[in-house]
Amino acid sequence: MDDCLFCKIAAGQIPSKIVYQDEDVVAFEDINPQAPYHILLIPRRHIASMADLTEEDGTLLVRLFMVAAKLAHKLGLDERGYRFVTNVGPDAGQSVLHLHSPLLGGRRFAWPPG
Ligand code: AMP
Ligand code: ZN
Repeated sequence: MDDCLFCKIAAGQIPSKIVYQDEDVVAFEDINPQAPYHILLIPRRHIASMADLTEEDGTLLVRLFMVAAKLAHKLGLDERGYRFVTNVGPDAGQSVLHLHSPLLGGRRFAWPPG
């Protein structure tokens, strides 16, 4: 999608620290990390948020979760744990309208989040 920051990152038109990519999923370091590990996972295809998912996106969602779990394992986060979430809309603070899920780890997180 024209003018979408994360579409441009997925297409390599804007530089980012990509840690994993395949035909469906791209993972890159958050520019403003809130934890020792803060990686954003996105579908390569433009989807504004989880509110726009359809039944056809089931396989994509499994891919997103599995890539997150494999990255967390690779980073040594299995034992202590990690968080994998997604924000939707203004109350949740979604600032980029392309579905993204931060994988956060390396410190203890409060619940519920602030
Ligand atoms: P949210 O506020 O939940 O929509 O999350 C958007 C995230 O994207 C924030 O954590 C930002 O720090 C991050 N972000 C914004 N621009 C970039 C960028 N160019 N490269 C990497 N991460 C970014
Ligand atoms: Zn997009």
